[in-house]
Amino acid sequence: MKYLPLLFSLLLALPTAPAEQVNVYSGRKEALIKPLFDAFTQETGIRVNLVTGKADALIKRLELEGERSPADLLVTVDAGRLYRAQALGLLQPVSSAQLERTVPEVYRDPQGYWYGLSIRARVIVYAKEQVNPAQLSTYEALADPVWSGQLCVRSSANIYNQSLVAAMLVHHGQDATEQWLRGLVANFARAPKGGDRDQIKAVAAGQCRLALVNTYYLAGMLSSAIAAEVNAARQVALFWPNQMDRGAHVNISGAGVTRSAQHKDSAVRLLEYLVSVPAQEWYGKTNHEFPIRAGVAGGEILQSWCEFKADDLNLTVLGEKNQAAVRAMDRAGWK
Ligand code: FE
Repeated sequence: MKYLPLLFSLLLALPTAPAEQVNVYSGRKEALIKPLFDAFTQETGIRVNLVTGKADALIKRLELEGERSPADLLVTVDAGRLYRAQALGLLQPVSSAQLERTVPEVYRDPQGYWYGLSIRARVIVYAKEQVNPAQLSTYEALADPVWSGQLCVRSSANIYNQSLVAAMLVHHGQDATEQWLRGLVANFARAPKGGDRDQIKAVAAGQCRLALVNTYYLAGMLSSAIAAEVNAARQVALFWPNQMDRGAHVNISGAGVTRSAQHKDSAVRLLEYLVSVPAQEWYGKTNHEFPIRAGVAGGEILQSWCEFKADDLNLTVLGEKNQAAVRAMDRAGWK
C-alpha cells in the first residue's frame, strides 16, 4: 500500500496523449445517428464531434472550407449526394477489409469513396379501401391513364425522386423515361408538396389513391406516438414494385471520408463500427431502415417487409445520371 502515492504521482507526471477524436458532418438528424456515435465512443474512447445540417449545405460548407475543413467524415442519405460530394473532390478513397466484406458491392463506391450504411426502398403505397393490389405492378405502370388524378408524390427537387428517375434512365434510356414521366405527371392528383409522410396522409385522407414513398416513413408512422399518424398509416398498404422483373428501387444512407480528414484512421474505425452487428440492428429497429449487413434483424415491421427483390443497379449510376434526371423531370413538368 505504501507505494500507492508514488504510483499516483508517477501517473500524474506522464504526459497525456490528446484524446483521439473524429469530426463528423451529418446530413442525418442528430436523433437518427448520435446514439450510435455515443456507443462508438464508449467502445473505443474516440470522441465524436458532430455537426448536423442539411446535406447540401454541408457539402457547400466542405467546398468552402477546402483543405482546412475540420470534417473527417460526411454522412448523408442518398447515393446521389455522396456521388456529388465525390465529384466535387471532397472525399477520399479508403479501403478496409471489414467494410468491403460487409457492404455489398452495389451499395458502395467501387473505389471506396463512400460506403452504404443502411438501405431504404422507394415503394408504392395505396389506399387499402380503394385499390386492389392486383391492379398494381411496376413504377412504369403508374404512368397508365387508368390512374389519372390518383397519384401523390413530393417535388422533383427531392433527391429520392431524382434517384428513382436516374434509375429509370439507366434501365430505359432517355426517350422512354421522358414518355413515362409525362404519363406520371399527368396522373398527379395535385401539385407536388410536402414530404413522404404528407403523401401517406394524403392517401389516407382520400386526396389520392397511390403515393411513392420510402419505406421507413411508413414504418415510422405505424410505430409513431402520435395517434393521427398511426391511423393514417393504417389506411394504406405497401406494394413492392417490379417484383416480376428488376426489383424495387433502393437507395442507401452512407458516408465517405473527407479529403481534408485529419483523423482518417478514426473515421474508418467509425465507418466499421457503423456496419457492426449492434449498429446495424439499431438502424433497423430505430430508423426502420434495412440493414446493409446480411443476417441482421430489424424491428417487427421490417421483419414483415424484408422479403422483397431489390434492383441491383450499382448506386454510383444514380449520381452519374442525376443531372439528366433533373432535366428530364423539368421537361415533363414535374414541379
Ligand atoms: Fe428521408
